[in-house]
Amino acid sequence: MKIRTRLLLLTVLSGILSLTILSGLFWLDKQQDLLFQHIETINRIQAHTNILRSQFRVHERYRDDGSIHKAMASQTQLKTLLDKLQANPTSEKAYINSMLRLSESLESLYTRMLSTHQDDVQLTDRHKDNSHYYLMDRLDNTILSMSEDSFKLAHHALKNSRQESQKSATIMQILLISLTLIIVLSALQTSRLFRDRLKQLEMGIHKLARGELNHTIAVTHDEIGQLAQHFNQMTHKLRASTISVDQLQLEVNKRTSELVKQKETLKQLAEHDSLTGLSNRNAFMQNLKTTLKHCEDKQNSAAIFFIDLDRFKHINDSLGHSVGDAVLIEMARRFTNTLRKSDSLARIGGDEFTVIIDPIYQLDDASELAHKLITSLNAPYHYQNSTFYLHVSIGISLYPQDGQDALELMKNADAAMYQAKHAGGNRYYFYNREINKHTLELLKQESELRTALNEQQLTVYYQPQFNLTTQTLLGVEALVRWQHPTKGMITPDQFIPIAEEKGLIHQLGAQVLNTACKQVKRWQEQLGYPLSLAVNVSSKQLSEHQLNETVYQALEKTQFPASSLELEITESCLLENTEDAIGKLLSLRAQGIMIALDDFGTGYSSLSYLKRLPLNKLKIDKAFIDNIASHDEDRAICKAIIALGSTLNLSVIAEGVESDLQAEVLIHEGCEQVQGYLFGKPMPAEEFSQTYLLNSRHIECSTQ
Ligand code: C2E
Ligand code: CA
Ligand code: CA
Repeated sequence: MKIRTRLLLLTVLSGILSLTILSGLFWLDKQQDLLFQHIETINRIQAHTNILRSQFRVHERYRDDGSIHKAMASQTQLKTLLDKLQANPTSEKAYINSMLRLSESLESLYTRMLSTHQDDVQLTDRHKDNSHYYLMDRLDNTILSMSEDSFKLAHHALKNSRQESQKSATIMQILLISLTLIIVLSALQTSRLFRDRLKQLEMGIHKLARGELNHTIAVTHDEIGQLAQHFNQMTHKLRASTISVDQLQLEVNKRTSELVKQKETLKQLAEHDSLTGLSNRNAFMQNLKTTLKHCEDKQNSAAIFFIDLDRFKHINDSLGHSVGDAVLIEMARRFTNTLRKSDSLARIGGDEFTVIIDPIYQLDDASELAHKLITSLNAPYHYQNSTFYLHVSIGISLYPQDGQDALELMKNADAAMYQAKHAGGNRYYFYNREINKHTLELLKQESELRTALNEQQLTVYYQPQFNLTTQTLLGVEALVRWQHPTKGMITPDQFIPIAEEKGLIHQLGAQVLNTACKQVKRWQEQLGYPLSLAVNVSSKQLSEHQLNETVYQALEKTQFPASSLELEITESCLLENTEDAIGKLLSLRAQGIMIALDDFGTGYSSLSYLKRLPLNKLKIDKAFIDNIASHDEDRAICKAIIALGSTLNLSVIAEGVESDLQAEVLIHEGCEQVQGYLFGKPMPAEEFSQTYLLNSRHIECSTQ
């Protein structure tokens, strides 16, 4: 049964109990009233019987008729009372009826007594007395009986009433006790039920709080039963989710161990160069710091080598990264074999390697090791179908004299390496303050060059090229100059290498190309014939993809005819770029642009190699021209180049012609085209205009 129903029942029972008590009290009150009424009636009956008796006494003593009348009046009232009582269904009915009967006989007795009095005159005294006494006697008996009856009635009524009251009280008591018992028992039962069920719930929640999820509570059909049901559902769901928590924990453990493994791998990766397996930059720097600390404690000296492969970029760009990678691996292998176990080798960048030598006792040890490292690369490296002659530049800084911390020592070793590279590579340099000064100077120049490019400080000079046979101006070579705000005019030899090194050569090349095309286009228009324009292209430019695009854009922008443009490349360009470079040159040729091979004779081009190039012209280097008139050897070389040109169907131009004798020999050997101070130095555009354009349309070759 539901607790709500129980409580309702208890309330109803309590209500009934209260009602019973109230109605009992009310009933008792009523009983009392009835009893009082009854007693009053009996009192009045007794009063009347007393009156009857007293009137009888009066009559007995004085024979007074009035007393009979009074007695009769009282008797009539008594009868009325008794009649009234007779109508009530009381248990004293027998007494009342008997008294009624007595009252009737009394009435007849009094009636007779009155008639006896009236007959007194006729009757004899004896008779009189006899009947009188007889009547009196009867009267006395009747009144006495009536009086007795009235007492009995009173007694009986009282007794009855007491019995009735007792009976009712007993019933009431029983009723009250049983009701109270029922209420108490059901209240006890309800509270016990409440207590037990709540205890179960409490225990369940307590266990749940301790993490025992298997506990369930018995479900009953009451409100706490519903709570228990909710509780069970809750623990069920919790159990389900706990299972997934366990699975989660397992998963987390699995992932954690995976992460630990990954972390180890990452650590390995973080500290090692994946290509060569050597330590990487981070590990190296860490190692260097530890070494320096160690050296500081032990008062030792150490040497730091900064090694850079010469012209590595060209290998990478022209032959692809896989070849570059193979070269690096080979280098790492040879270096490792050369070094002692105690020397730590690292690869800190593309083609940059470092070595820490700790301890070092004398400078010669470092020199010797640097030399060994360079010669370890002497043997040619064959890879796929190519043969590589590997050269490195090494910079060496020493602890403690060249720097107190890792960064400073690295910076200085780098500066020494840079210097070694500038000196031609394949050598080692120790760091000294002069180097540092020079490096700083280079850095300064770099930033100045950037400014120069942005502020258009570069100008183009033009040097004429002539045909000696026809005595005509064929074209010009554009040669860049830097009009420095404080240092004055700077020649390209001083800044082209910096532009190449710092990645500024493309911007520079594009500026020269645009300026020159624009200028020569104007001259072409003025002259009315296609003056050719030769523009120098550095090997760096040829190795980058944007060269062709830059050329096409310049032509389009200035409307310069492609057929009048000649790009001068050097042999070194081709040595370093091969297929890729040839591809670029072919597409330039396809547009009608001419290609001249500059400084020809100084490089190492093989004849078969030359045949593959889309060339138009060979430019004999000034070095051969210088002594062409005095050295038979140089003359023979020039002769051979001229012959080669005609064999390969290439035109040949001699540059750096300074004397008439040189010009004569050249003409004699069949080289028609010339360029040199003899005919004209490189000059600004205005000067060129004034010298060659003001006079005639057809400019004759004249020596200055
Ligand atoms: P190059 O291409 O071999 O240029 C010829 C150099 O010889 C020029 O030097 C020129 O002034 C000089 N020269 C010409 N005739 C004579 C002569 O009779 N006697 C002497 N002693 N010298 C003569 P410059 O202008 O100083 O240029 C030097 C180098 O700078 C050039 O050599 C070229 O490789 C490079 N260069 C110049 N301008 C540019 C440019 O715009 N771009 C690129 N990438 N390189 C350039
Ligand atoms: Ca040139
Ligand atoms: Ca040249």
